Amino acid sequence: MGKTWKNWAGNEKAVPLSIRAVSEPQQLAEIVRQAHSRGEKVKIPGSGHSFTPAAVTNGHMVRIDGISGIIDVDRNNHLVTVGAGTTLHHLNKLLHAEGLAMANLGDIAYQTVAGAVSTSTHGTGRDLTGLAGQLEGLTLVDGTGQIHTCSRTKNTDIFEFARVGVGALGAITECTIRVVDAFSLKAQEVPMKLNDVLDNIDELVNSNDHFEFFWIPHTKWALTKRNNRTTEPLSPLPPIRGWISKTFMENYAFGAVCKVGRRFPSLIPKLATALPSSGSREYIDHSYKIFASPRLVHFYEMENAIPAEFLPQALKDIQQMIERKGYLLNFPVEVRFTAPDDVPLSTAYQRRSAYIAVHVYQGMEYESFFRDVENVLREYQPRPHWGKIHYKDADVLAPLYPKFEEFLRMRDRLDPDRTFSNRYTEKVFGK
Ligand SMILES: Cc1cc2nc3c(=O)[nH]c(=O)nc-3n(C[C@H](O)[C@H](O)[C@H](O)COP(=O)(O)OP(=O)(O)OC[C@H]3O[C@@H](n4cnc5c(N)ncnc54)[C@H](O)[C@@H]3O)c2cc1C
Repeated sequence: MGKTWKNWAGNEKAVPLSIRAVSEPQQLAEIVRQAHSRGEKVKIPGSGHSFTPAAVTNGHMVRIDGISGIIDVDRNNHLVTVGAGTTLHHLNKLLHAEGLAMANLGDIAYQTVAGAVSTSTHGTGRDLTGLAGQLEGLTLVDGTGQIHTCSRTKNTDIFEFARVGVGALGAITECTIRVVDAFSLKAQEVPMKLNDVLDNIDELVNSNDHFEFFWIPHTKWALTKRNNRTTEPLSPLPPIRGWISKTFMENYAFGAVCKVGRRFPSLIPKLATALPSSGSREYIDHSYKIFASPRLVHFYEMENAIPAEFLPQALKDIQQMIERKGYLLNFPVEVRFTAPDDVPLSTAYQRRSAYIAVHVYQGMEYESFFRDVENVLREYQPRPHWGKIHYKDADVLAPLYPKFEEFLRMRDRLDPDRTFSNRYTEKVFGK
């Protein structure tokens, strides 16, 4: 019996035929060639932070943590090439040392660069795209073991689709990222009535570089977060206060509240008032320290991108559904925004997008709630996050993406024998 692999949330497990680690693209290409010739499967896990079985395999699991670090810095063009196994956390530090930064990031930085772009990982930002939209080039080992380098000017058709390939087109070994000069962000966290947020949503999004909010179910309140570029001096949360508010309150204390709620669900509406929604605070820090926080409380998550203009009505519909069905929820509903991009399977492809994310504490039943959310959002053209729980298959997904059929043709070209397929890619793209 092989070693068991499981994802961060613990809802997906795999017993691969083998788990190997490589530090050179050529080693990886050789493993793929051999597996292909024997008709075996290969999967590259990132940091296992997808809630979907995207990285699961009963074939060969090949870790590329060793293909990590900065390979090249093109300062004139603000382009940095990195090993695809670099974690975002490591990347942020490396970029900072070069006086550079990612223009935008998600909530955490545990993911690998390749894992994050492959599932269309995003943060929030009026004029900014998700991570795949920040790529300018990449290197890919296809399903036969052939290596392709591609960019906006070379092998452009491969580049177009391989940025968000959900692991189905091959293994990415290097990524060239468009970066910006290092910058600071002023974070302002202010509780607001949810209705006021929704009534003024365009103004809130348009007047901030990065706006997001967390609605606390069973309350009228939302915690709003505005992050704006600043040249003011740094004034980070002091280490102890920062640890208490970011790590303790948002993780340990929150975890304790969730645990009580899991044991005594009827207390959840009362406990909701103890969630970290109250109190305003302001601090300034390096951008990457503001974007990402530790996440020590484990949960299950579903997130859908919808055209931004549908957000207020869609969220009200979810709110009504929760009340009607009597769901007791002890996790905030997170709402973020991004600019449209040009990546065919990006959840924001050609759409200014609002993202609605719902969470359920680890160990609690989530399926009926997530299915109901999916149902409510059906009329809003929802594109599910490729790395977060959803129940859609290829037939449902195809009409949501104008270039879905072209993506499938690229898959036939790059992975004709499905070396990189697993039960997830079979579900979302077909056999
Ligand atoms: C606590 C938490 C917070 C999160 N916050 C956010 C957020 O703020 N925004 C957001 O959008 N998402 C968020 N996510 C989702 C997460 O960003 C994605 O699921 C991401 O794909 C995880 O990256 P990973 O490195 O763990 O990849 P994995 O989950 O391990 O893999 C994801 C997919 O990428 C493929 N892959 C990995 N490496 C390669 C490679 N080298 N070549 C080809 N394919 C590859 C895998 O095979 C798999 O198909 C969060 C998840 C968690 C658990």
